[in-house]
Amino acid sequence: MPEIRILPDLLVNKIAAGEVIERPASVVKELLENAIDAGAAHIEVAIEDGGKRLIRVTDDGCGMSADQLKLAVTPHATSKINTEDDLYNIGTLGFRGEALASIGAVSHLRIVSRPADLDEGGEIRVAGESIESCSAAGCPPGTSIEVRDLFFNVPARRKFLRTTSTESGHVNEQFARIALTSPEIGFELINGKRVTQRLLPGQCRLDRIRALFGAEVTTGIIPIHREERGLEIEAYAAPPDRSRSNTGGQYLFVNGRYVRDRMISYAIREAYRGLLESDRFPIIYLFLTLNPAAVDANVHPTKVEVRWQDGSLVRSQVLSALRETFMQRDLTPSLRTDRVTCPIDEVRREQIRTEVAQELKDAVATAKAGIPTAQTAAGASSAQRPSASPRLPDTTPPHPGQPISGHATGAEALWRSLMPHQEQAGSPSVPPPAAGQEALDRDPATSDPQESALSAQPPDVVVAAGGRPAIQLHNTYLVTETEDGLVIIDQHALHERVIYDQLRRRLTDGALESQRLLLPETVEATPHQVALLQNHHDLLERLGVEVTPFGTNAVAVHSFPALLANADVRGFVRNLIDKLDDQGEAAHTEDLIHELLDMMACKAAVKAGDPLTPEEIDSLLAAKELAEKPSNCPHGRPTTLRLTVKDLEKQFKRT
Ligand code: ADP
Ligand code: MG
Repeated sequence: MPEIRILPDLLVNKIAAGEVIERPASVVKELLENAIDAGAAHIEVAIEDGGKRLIRVTDDGCGMSADQLKLAVTPHATSKINTEDDLYNIGTLGFRGEALASIGAVSHLRIVSRPADLDEGGEIRVAGESIESCSAAGCPPGTSIEVRDLFFNVPARRKFLRTTSTESGHVNEQFARIALTSPEIGFELINGKRVTQRLLPGQCRLDRIRALFGAEVTTGIIPIHREERGLEIEAYAAPPDRSRSNTGGQYLFVNGRYVRDRMISYAIREAYRGLLESDRFPIIYLFLTLNPAAVDANVHPTKVEVRWQDGSLVRSQVLSALRETFMQRDLTPSLRTDRVTCPIDEVRREQIRTEVAQELKDAVATAKAGIPTAQTAAGASSAQRPSASPRLPDTTPPHPGQPISGHATGAEALWRSLMPHQEQAGSPSVPPPAAGQEALDRDPATSDPQESALSAQPPDVVVAAGGRPAIQLHNTYLVTETEDGLVIIDQHALHERVIYDQLRRRLTDGALESQRLLLPETVEATPHQVALLQNHHDLLERLGVEVTPFGTNAVAVHSFPALLANADVRGFVRNLIDKLDDQGEAAHTEDLIHELLDMMACKAAVKAGDPLTPEEIDSLLAAKELAEKPSNCPHGRPTTLRLTVKDLEKQFKRT
C-alpha cells in the first residue's frame, strides 16, 4: 500500500511556482501587477537575455519596511485581502500572496524596498531553498525587485525556455497588456541596453494604444463608450479593413485585468459578422468595468480567466454596443488612410424608404392576387413572367412615365464617348430571371429587359440613388460619384449583401417563401447526412426547404426557396448538407442561419459579368442605401471602394 505523506514546503512551493511561473514573462506580469497594486506612478522593467538571466522591476509605489520583507516572500502572505468576503470583492490585481514566494522558489530573488515615510528600507535575498539574507538598507522610496537565473534549480523547466528573442517577445506582450490597463502610469521597458518602450504617464487610452502598437492601428479606430446596468464598456475597435489573421489583435480587460473569455470573443465575432471574411479577426481593445462582486477572478492560476455572475448579460451588452456603433458607421474601406464619411442626403434616404415601403405593399398585394412563380409557371412566356429582373430589388419611383435614367448632359455624352455601349439590344442584357422575389418585383409592363435597354438614354448611365450618374464597367463594377469623390462597387458583393439583409428581415418575420417542385428531386446522402437534415428540419422549413428521407442513401427534395427557383436544386442541397456537416453537432443556430442565408444570397445575386440595365443599377444602388452593412458582403469582402477627390488630387500631384 503506498504511504500518504505531507509534502515538504519547498516542494509545495515549487509545485505552486510551476502553475504561476511558466517563463520570464510570467515573472514580469506578477511584478508589474504588484507595482500597480502598490500605487506606483512610474514603473521600469529591465530584462537581460529575454529575462532568462535577469528581470528587474522598479517602482515608486508604497514600498515595504524591512520587517515586512520576510513575510512578502512567504507563501500565502498578502496585504491585499483579509477575510473571505474580501475574496469576492477584489479591487487589487494580486490577492493570493503566492507570486513572490513562487518566484523565490525558482530563482535568485532580491528585493530592496522602502516606504516613503521611513528613513530606512530593507533588503532581502532568497535563493530557491532559503532566505539568504535580510537586513536594513538605504534605498530610494519604492521597491526594486530583481529576479536572476529563473529556474536555475528546476532544470526541467529551464530546458523549456525558448530563445532570447522569443522570451523577449513574451515579455513585450505582457508588458503591453499591463501598460494598456494603466495609461495613467508611466512605464519603461529596457531590453539589454536598449530602451524599447517609454510610455509617458497620464496618457489617454488611445494615446497609450498608439504608443504601444503604432499609429497604423489607431487610424480610423472606432472609440465606443457606454455605461448601463452596472457595466462600463470602453472599446477601441479597428475598422474591418485592418483585421488580422489570428486573434492576436484582441485585447480584453475586465476590471483592469487582461483576460481571455470565449463568450466575449464570440460577441466580438458576432459584432463583426458580415464585415470580415471568416478567416480574418478584428483588432479590438475592450475594457469592461463592473462591480467586482459580479465577476470572480479567482478561477485560474494566472487569473487569465474569470467567471461571470451573469455572463450572457455581459455578452449581449458588449455585442449590442459594438453592433450598434458599427451600424451607425459607414465602414466602407477607403483608399486613403484617414477615412472620410459621405453622409447620404437624409431627404433622399427618407424618399427611398417611403418608395420601397410602398412598393413592397403593392408587390405583396400583387403576389396575394396569385401571380405565378417562375417554376410553377414553367411554360409561361417571358411576357408573363412576374418580372424581367426579379433579382434586383426595385426602388425606382413608382411613376412609369418618369424613368429615373439620366438625361443626356455634357458629362454623360463624355461618358458615352468613353464607354463602349452595353451589348446591343437583342442580346441578353439581363441574366435569366429567377422567381421568388415577387414582393420586390417591379411592374412587368415597365421592366421588359429589352425594352429598358432600349429606352434608357444612354443605357449605361443612370442617376444613382444619391442623384448622381452611375455606370457599369466590365459588367462587374459600378462606379458612381459621391459628395466628395467616387465609389467603385462590386455588383455581386453588393447584391449579395442586399439579398442577405432582405432574407434576414423576412426570416425574422416568419418563414421564407417556398415553392413546391412539380417532381421531387432526389439527392444522394449518407445516413448521417440524412439524419443531419432531419435534425434541422424546423430550420430548413423556415428557409423554405422541405426534404424527406428517400430510401437509405438519399433524400427527396419537395420544396425549395422561391428565391433560388432557377438554381440547381441538387447543387444547392449538396451545399446545404456540406454546411450542416461543417457545423457539426454543436451547430449554433445563429451561425447556421448565417451560413445558409449567405449561401442562398450568393447563389441568387447577380454575378460578375452579368450586364445590368440602368434600372437595375439604379435599384441596386438605392438598395445599398438601405442595407444594414452595405460596405461588406456577407462573407465580409468589401462591396465598395472609395476614392475621394483629395485622393485623386494627390495621385495626380495637384497638391
Ligand atoms: P499578492 O500580490 O497576491 O499579495 P505577492 O506574493 O505578489 O502576493 O506579494 C506579497 C505582498 O508583498 C503583497 O501583498 C504586498 O504587500 C507586498 N509587495 C509585493 N510587491 C510589492 C511592491 N512592488 N511594492 C510594495 N509592496 C509589495
Ligand atoms: Mg502579487
